[in-house]
Amino acid sequence: MKVTRCVVAAFLLAMSARGADEVIALKAARIFDGKSDAVLQNGMVLVEGDKIIDVGSNLPVPSSARVIDLGDATLCPGFMDAHTHLTNDFSGNYNERRLREIDLNVSEQAIRATVFARTTVEAGFTTVRDLGSRFVASHEFVDVALRNSINKGLIVGPRMLVATKGIGATGGHFDPTNGFRDFLFGREPDYTDGIANGPDEIRKAVRFEVKNGADVIKAAVSGGVLSLTDEVDTPQLTAAEMAALVDESHRLRKKVAVHCHGDQVAREAIEAGVDSIEHGSFMKTETLAIMKKKGTFLTPTLMATEWIMSKLDNYPLALQAKAKAAAAARSDMFRNAVKMGLRISFGTDAAVYPHGQNAKEFKLMVDLGMKPIDALKSATANDAELLGIGQKVGTLEKGKLADVIAVPGDPTLDITATERVSFVMKEGKVIRQGPPSVQKAENTASPQLADPAD
Ligand SMILES: [Zn+2]
Repeated sequence: MKVTRCVVAAFLLAMSARGADEVIALKAARIFDGKSDAVLQNGMVLVEGDKIIDVGSNLPVPSSARVIDLGDATLCPGFMDAHTHLTNDFSGNYNERRLREIDLNVSEQAIRATVFARTTVEAGFTTVRDLGSRFVASHEFVDVALRNSINKGLIVGPRMLVATKGIGATGGHFDPTNGFRDFLFGREPDYTDGIANGPDEIRKAVRFEVKNGADVIKAAVSGGVLSLTDEVDTPQLTAAEMAALVDESHRLRKKVAVHCHGDQVAREAIEAGVDSIEHGSFMKTETLAIMKKKGTFLTPTLMATEWIMSKLDNYPLALQAKAKAAAAARSDMFRNAVKMGLRISFGTDAAVYPHGQNAKEFKLMVDLGMKPIDALKSATANDAELLGIGQKVGTLEKGKLADVIAVPGDPTLDITATERVSFVMKEGKVIRQGPPSVQKAENTASPQLADPAD
């Protein structure tokens, strides 16, 4: 009897194991593998467990496979966004948002972030690099908590590589107390808030962030649009500080992404060896040429300026002037970068605009001269390389994790198809097939979430 029960248990175990390893055949009219120069017809991706076991055009369907036929669509690797802020929402009225950030308990803001994470993955972005998460007068590492909760399967969201606070100078773009009365929060921000001055403190801030879970180091080396006490292109870290930043981060095997609009400091940052320049609005062609030589990635974040320019009334006058200056410069900079063949990583600055609209960046890139296929590569193979995870994701290849999405029609003929993702699989699990579970807020700052009425 005992033996029989054991045999039955073993049989059931084997059955359930087989169930978990069922082969899924994803079929669609076309396929883009993330690295080829063309979209191929009759695409198929075979998935077992969390991995891709075969991929190609006109493959036979194994008889045992469960077929998911996505019809007149294009299979693509899950998109990546190299510049998001999933724990924040800066998209509404600037002053109201600043007040709300102080009003709301950080725990409530963290719960809100779980919705942003879900919205993002359901829009087809299966991986994001999260470049800075802070709440004024709080030491919480909400981005680390969000990443860990997603990894543990507690909530649904994209794979996240997080930067924690981001590092910057006193009074610089990242100083969370900018514009508030002095000592309103009881003390000056320090390295535990990411605010550091001098090479030694910069090293301390890097170590502190890595200790607390940072996967990547972010720093603000120039002024920015949405900060109240600086000019948009002023240098904010010295060459010595940037050398320390890069050296310490690379020693700890972390890549360095820098927020940078100004040309002069961009050149110094590139020479210091940063891995990517974020924004880069005012970079001149000579600076782009140095970038090209060094292989530094450019993450253009066109969506950020686009959104701010479309909602100028939401921002104080000083910020409006900064946004206009950055917007006037960035289109030429981006066109030049494309012409010169720079390595371009797809990144949008999600949070500046409502989460989930990330794919609108594709059309902005194409409108400024990028080939649709290259725009698609920027959000797949290029981002995977910049993030240092190209061995696992970024292309549809045998042995890689099954992050697979589908977009209607052919995105190389109509790039806006990327905004209408119809299917999302992450690590072999279907996240979405059919309409998204969270309604995307069009042209509003997710009003149902942002309103602190209760
Ligand atoms: Zn940003």
